[in-house]
Amino acid sequence: MPEFNTPTEAVITYTDSDWRLQPVLARPPGDHELHIRILATGICHTDIVNVGGIYPRILGHEGAGRILRKGPNVSPDLDIGDPVLLSFAHCKECSMCVTGHPAHCMQQVPLTIAAEGLNFALAESEGEGEGLEKDAEGRRRVVKAGYFGHSSFSGVAVAREESVVGVKQWIRSEEELKVFAPLGCGIQTGACAVVNILKPTPDDSIAVFGLGGVGLSAVMAAKALNLKTIIAIDILPNRLDLATSLGATHSINSKSLSPSQLTNSIQSLTPFTAHPTSPTGPTGIIDTTGIPTLLQAALASVSRLGRVVQLANQGPGSSVSVALPEHMRDGVSLTGTVQGDADPVKSIPMLINWHREGKLPLEKLEKMYPVEDFERAREEMHGGGVIKPVLIWPQD
Ligand SMILES: [Zn+2]
Ligand SMILES: [Zn+2]
Repeated sequence: MPEFNTPTEAVITYTDSDWRLQPVLARPPGDHELHIRILATGICHTDIVNVGGIYPRILGHEGAGRILRKGPNVSPDLDIGDPVLLSFAHCKECSMCVTGHPAHCMQQVPLTIAAEGLNFALAESEGEGEGLEKDAEGRRRVVKAGYFGHSSFSGVAVAREESVVGVKQWIRSEEELKVFAPLGCGIQTGACAVVNILKPTPDDSIAVFGLGGVGLSAVMAAKALNLKTIIAIDILPNRLDLATSLGATHSINSKSLSPSQLTNSIQSLTPFTAHPTSPTGPTGIIDTTGIPTLLQAALASVSRLGRVVQLANQGPGSSVSVALPEHMRDGVSLTGTVQGDADPVKSIPMLINWHREGKLPLEKLEKMYPVEDFERAREEMHGGGVIKPVLIWPQD
């Protein structure tokens, strides 16, 4: 058991509704690890529902900060004090990693959602906690962490090197670093699903199911790539309005629509191409809901030879049935993906550039909260009123 000796504070998730900000001690960084002084952490839906299901644990998998300390064998390209963004861990060695697909790493689950590194202990004054692991003296105060390789709901994160993206050549201010905190998961996932999976041309068309941070990032990416038809679908009017302000050309409130009515609504938005006998429906659909009936509606709505990209699911065992004759006749594809198949070392500079060019107005999605207001942030996100809460950590 390592010595826990770096004092900080962390939000510990005891249950879905019981998050507590508590003083903790971090262990020193090990081989290919760093301590990151966290400046800002985006909250993602994956944190809200604790995908991976391990309690208690320190979550958080989007973050911005500066390098505080380096363990052995960390790249010389990462210096103490450098600004960094945090994304996701991967093994760097499997066939997926070495061919540029780290999001689909063969070790993806144990290194991200199921990570349970013994990286923190409750501070002495906090005593012992129910469900925590035993320390070297047999006291229950060791907290599991390492979510996505870092667990950024902590003032000091213990981060695996490959989850850290150095951004010193791009960052101009601390304010900007805060704004970029969510790039490493939610924004990247939606934008890269468009860029890497759909790979659209301006003549292609897209529909986006679900307008949280991921879906709105897909809308922004489609706009950045100059798609002429961008259809935004959700059940909340405020989100549909926001999508329109970000570049959606059409919006559909699906609240009272059956799946077949939704398909009719989408396909009635013609013409998708100039040719009179062209198939109806967008060439690409991004689904951020993972709801089986909506995925079926997406498959029925997409154009012949179109592609539906699945970015969410309803948990273990969830499935969708596919009408095989129509699936074959129409030549459609259903592609599941993690993080939009992004390699953060490439996607984060691209997203920062888009922000510089005004194509990724993150400020329209974000709301900043001091970290002690984490409960309000979580509830406002859960209620749909806030798209992307960002927790701001005190800098000692
Ligand atoms: Zn790998
Ligand atoms: Zn996420």
